[in-house]
Amino acid sequence: MPSKPLSEEVEQQLRNVLKKTDTTSDTNSVVKVAIEEQHCGMVAIVGRPNVGKSTLLNALVGQKISITSRKVQTTRHRITGIYTRDSYQFVFVDTPGFQTKHSNALNKSMNKVVSAALSEVSVFFLVLEAGRYDNADEQVINLLPSGASVILIANKLDTVKQRARLAPWLLDMQTKYNFAEIIPMSAKSHDDIKRLLKITEQYLPKQPWWYRPDELTDKSERFLAAEIVREKLFRLTGDELPYTSTVVIDQFQEKSTDKTGKRVLHIAASIVVDRASHKAMVIGNKGERIKRIGTESRIELEQLLNAKIFIELWVKVRSGWADNEDQLRSFGYS
Ligand code: GDP
Repeated sequence: MPSKPLSEEVEQQLRNVLKKTDTTSDTNSVVKVAIEEQHCGMVAIVGRPNVGKSTLLNALVGQKISITSRKVQTTRHRITGIYTRDSYQFVFVDTPGFQTKHSNALNKSMNKVVSAALSEVSVFFLVLEAGRYDNADEQVINLLPSGASVILIANKLDTVKQRARLAPWLLDMQTKYNFAEIIPMSAKSHDDIKRLLKITEQYLPKQPWWYRPDELTDKSERFLAAEIVREKLFRLTGDELPYTSTVVIDQFQEKSTDKTGKRVLHIAASIVVDRASHKAMVIGNKGERIKRIGTESRIELEQLLNAKIFIELWVKVRSGWADNEDQLRSFGYS
């Protein structure tokens, strides 16, 4: 399979990685694989919200990186997970689901992210819920470039009571796109995940790895911090808070190490909401809710980043920010 030219963004990522590699001592325990043996490629996980993309990514990479939620659309950024085994390096791209309800600046920005992710990938995982197919799924299929290698993942197989009913559905799916493979499976099954990785190996072009084999994600700790706070925010506000609310990290500083040599990180984050009523919702009765968002974020981040964390949260009202492209850029969406 010929390797595609790399975009500027990927080249920049590579440069960063090479810089990091230069300063790392070469004593990790990962078995060395000769460059000429290495395979590497991007795997884009696409599908409408709630089909299980984040669950799948976490299972594939073996660590909680992307944020799963019962609610749709918690992940607005493109998240990359990296998994290296034997001579294969899988670089996963978890694209946000396609939003169809509104078309404000935020959604336009998201669709650009989706298109950018699609142009560089070696193989797509199109995730559907086994036995289900609706307009939102069809819109995602329409987004796939023609002639791409696409593996259809019929996920949540464990929820299908009568497997026999699935056969006509699978036949019907074959008419939707010229899929390279069709795999009924469950993202929650360890064996299914292993099988999927094995099948995917053949779609990764022979080329030198882009990342060190021990790297899990190229997203910064700062980004992970925003994602964790965002997850707690939406989980603890239930269904009340609109998805136009976001989290911006204002300060992320490593101040010192504690007595045991652990890093001490100071994080200040703003929760940006559209209206004063949303602000009250986030703060909660006597500030209880925001306190809980802070505490739960701190506990999870301490584990994830292996550091002692001090976290300070603010709530800011930015009326109509989701419609303002300049403001969007200042929050890190482009
Ligand atoms: P995303 O929006 O596509 O990223 O979907 P998530 O990964 O957040 O999953 C949505 C919901 O489906 C969560 O409650 C998951 O636990 C659940 N889920 C994902 N995969 C499976 C599966 O294979 N079986 C079952 N029963 N539930 C699943």
